[in-house]
Amino acid sequence: MKPAATPLLPGATLGVLGGGQLGRMFVHAAQSMGYYTAVLDPDPHSPAGRVSHHHIQTAYNDHEGLARLVQLCDAITTEFENVPAQVLEALAQRRRVAPAAAAVAVAQDRAAEKAHFVRCGVPCAPHALIASAQDCSAPAHAALLPGILKTARLGYDGKGQARVHTLPELAAAWQALGGVPCVLEQLLPLDFECSVIVARGSDGQCVHLPPQRNLHRDGILAVTEVHAQNMPPALMQQALEAAISIANGLAYVGVLCVEFFVLQGGRLVVNEIAPRPHNSGHYSLDACDVSQFELQVRTLAGLPLTPPRLHSAAVMLNLLGDLWFTRGEAAQTPPWAALLALPGTHLHLYGKAQPRRGRKMGHLTVTAATPEAARAAALQAAALLG
Ligand code: ADP
Ligand code: MG
Repeated sequence: MKPAATPLLPGATLGVLGGGQLGRMFVHAAQSMGYYTAVLDPDPHSPAGRVSHHHIQTAYNDHEGLARLVQLCDAITTEFENVPAQVLEALAQRRRVAPAAAAVAVAQDRAAEKAHFVRCGVPCAPHALIASAQDCSAPAHAALLPGILKTARLGYDGKGQARVHTLPELAAAWQALGGVPCVLEQLLPLDFECSVIVARGSDGQCVHLPPQRNLHRDGILAVTEVHAQNMPPALMQQALEAAISIANGLAYVGVLCVEFFVLQGGRLVVNEIAPRPHNSGHYSLDACDVSQFELQVRTLAGLPLTPPRLHSAAVMLNLLGDLWFTRGEAAQTPPWAALLALPGTHLHLYGKAQPRRGRKMGHLTVTAATPEAARAAALQAAALLG
């Protein structure tokens, strides 16, 4: 094992690139442990910027903004994977940065990500790179159909994807996605989806949250359910081992989310990674004794990592902007008081002024002593939300 980084103790300043809800929850965790925080995000109303001690309102590649971040911070992390890897590399010359640019670069590119899975010996969907019109008509690629064509870079929440059934459809979809480098994946028969949040320290020590079971709607995470028996124990073990080997293979420092498919028949296949806390780990704020955001603070600051313990069964419901429009076209306030009257509900709103359809405005975590009770209260909450 490598020696652990010297701990940065409370009183130090931790910086984050990106000011969305993930940055906001990182800031909350850091501040509650006595750190000062700095957020770099151009949006003056960014959810994290509004709650941070410092908010640098510049673009991610603005020299002055980055210089100010270095000046303010003892260590810097990121809340999204699309920050240019060169920016992280440049910051790392001057300050502790985690995760490292090289690991983020892998997560930024589906092709590099798949190559990493293959290197780690973790099975992923059969796939091929599609980078030219010739690739679209290659007879070998017919074996991957029906499939999903995904842009190699910049896709999220199901965006930058198209389902294709024939080679001509593949060619049309590739053009429609802008003719950029893409990955064609075979469409797999999913039983369900799950994910694992791993935190890895600079000394290589790994801890993890329990595997989460996830339900997506229209490509966006809708519901996460977590309890000790939410999947067969052998599968759970396999997912944990795969997630840890993927983190080890990247010499990763920080919080990493690994998303998996469980196929009909029970086979586990890795889907993608996110080099940061993840929407599917939000339940940990209310159902674990250490949240994914506290783990992010601990890995960045070089503090000890203790294994998080799940103390309640949990169901997390994402609150999308659509909820503000369900009772007609005018924006209305969802029934917060009625939701909070249900047992074990925890409301998290991200401070975004404008609700929009598909926009993540917040989440609701329902905790209970048993999975049945959590599910029952979550069903009541879902009914109230319409
Ligand atoms: P994003 O970066 O948008 O989250 P994903 O690759 O995770 O992209 O795809 C979004 C969702 O689409 C997945 O959670 C899953 O429900 C579905 N999906 C993606 N790839 C496949 C596949 N190869 N087979 C079946 N379903 C898939
Ligand atoms: Mg995904």
